[in-house]
Amino acid sequence: MYKVLVAFDIDRRAVEYMERNGISVEVRSDITQEEFDNVYHKYDAVVVRGNIKVRPSRGRGELDVIVRAGVGLDNIDLKGFSELGVEVLNTPEASTNSVAELTICLMICLARRLLPASSSLKQGKWMKAGVMGEELRGKTLGVVGCGRIGRAVSRLGSCLGMKVLVYDVVNVDEDFLRSIGARQVELRELLSQSDFVTVHVPLEESTRHLLGEEELRMMKRSAYLINVARGGVVDEGALKRALMEGRIAGAALDVFEREPPDDLELLSLPNLLPTPHIGAQTQDAQTIAGLRAAELVVSSLIKV
Ligand code: NAD
Repeated sequence: MYKVLVAFDIDRRAVEYMERNGISVEVRSDITQEEFDNVYHKYDAVVVRGNIKVRPSRGRGELDVIVRAGVGLDNIDLKGFSELGVEVLNTPEASTNSVAELTICLMICLARRLLPASSSLKQGKWMKAGVMGEELRGKTLGVVGCGRIGRAVSRLGSCLGMKVLVYDVVNVDEDFLRSIGARQVELRELLSQSDFVTVHVPLEESTRHLLGEEELRMMKRSAYLINVARGGVVDEGALKRALMEGRIAGAALDVFEREPPDDLELLSLPNLLPTPHIGAQTQDAQTIAGLRAAELVVSSLIKV
């Protein structure tokens, strides 16, 4: 009988699906990194989220497949496991909608100054006059990286009446662009024309500090930057300077170069809206990711 270790609180239906296919499932949502490192090789498959690092410290053992319930594979030693012949799979589509909705949520919060408006009222201050906002309708949305999430954000932005510009290293599907009235442009044009710039590229060597000092200087003073992709895609030091000097209007960060972030000066800036990496943190995304991960385990172990 195949044995699977699941290192988070996976949806019950996902467990039942694997069990119905003759797989013995052990759910250890409280497993520590050290415990995981010591036992992963005793299972035919492990299913993890981003909080556990998966590295071949004890070789391959019984392990055939690693499934990351989610997108980012940066917590898995891909090279090490590839050399050992272990398959690594993920569920990249599961969180697309949740991340796209959070992106739009952060854009509206920035535009309507929701954080100062609400936190001042909680302190008993009625500061209506001090929180004049703006609409998204009619504004230009710049989407950096037009894959699954970038496309979902572009579509939502277009539904809200925004003019959409996209930048990507590959050619974005013409039919898709036409369907939402969007244009693919160079990064420089996107940065200089957009009222909201949102980043949806993976963190790789080519995307590290894709938005740095120079790029931030290309943005309008009235523009907002949203990063729900990965810390490191935006140069946090350069962003901090831009926010402190008022070179852009504000930013929202769901991801940081170090998590949890330790730059309290950055976090406390009044024009920064930080969230603790909650892009995929919805019941819906977790359910879909769990079910999809279970399907991948079954199809990978029980090759029909
Ligand atoms: P995807 O692979 O579908 O899309 C990424 C796009 O970026 C692709 O179109 C690719 O061509 C483009 N790209 C790559 N390098 C580029 C570059 N140098 N310049 C411009 N474009 C470039 O990925 P996705 O599902 O849309 O997810 C995007 C990222 O979102 C993930 O890699 C992950 O880091 C992040 N994410 C964050 C959360 C969260 O909780 N905040 C959740 C899920 C995903």
